[in-house]
Amino acid sequence: MRSFIVGRFQPFHKGHLEIIKEVLRDSPSVIIGIGSAQYSHTLKDPFTAGERYLMISSTLENEGIRNFYIVPIEDVNSNPLWVAHVESLTPKFRTVYTNNPLVGRLFYEKGYDARSFKLINRKFWSGTKIREKILNGGEWEPAVPQTVADIIKEVDGVNRLIDLSKTDEDDGLD
Ligand code: NAP
Repeated sequence: MRSFIVGRFQPFHKGHLEIIKEVLRDSPSVIIGIGSAQYSHTLKDPFTAGERYLMISSTLENEGIRNFYIVPIEDVNSNPLWVAHVESLTPKFRTVYTNNPLVGRLFYEKGYDARSFKLINRKFWSGTKIREKILNGGEWEPAVPQTVADIIKEVDGVNRLIDLSKTDEDDGLD
């Protein structure tokens, strides 16, 4: 049966790719939910759902991975209703992989098999750290697949973050 994994993927990085490969060792296919799909152009969520979709699909296709479905998922104003919202948008699945205790709890209470996974190489493979490096001129490219680096440059992502930092009051990266 399919598995489900959700994240904001701001941006999609090598840690996400490794987790997806690991999930696919146990599942015939994976549904990847792009969480907080309505957000973009903030320091915490700089990339649109469409840009994140492209980052994930091009990376997985380059890796020869075909057994995935990507579903952008907007947040809803009620945690108890969120699982039903996810179910209304995705193909059926039985297992959920998440390290977010709230996400795990919400799915567990609806009878799903909610599992956690080990985060890998967090010193470099972390959305927050990558966004910080993009903003501060650090070495962010090695932490993302080449195709993601290309997409970030194509959408002028570095200058987007720099411009956003001029308007946000705090650093807002987390
Ligand atoms: P997240 O904010 O993207 O991730 C939380 C933490 O887990 C981050 O440190 C993230 O690292 C890490 N992480 C997530 N997926 C990972 C992966 N595959 N590999 C490595 N690290 C990973 O989001 P999340 O908590 O996992 O996803 C939950 C999404 O569901 C959010 O968009 C949230 O808004 C949504 N949600 C909505 C509701 C509602 O609408 N009521 C309720 C529950 C959840 P990185 O920063 O490196 O990715």
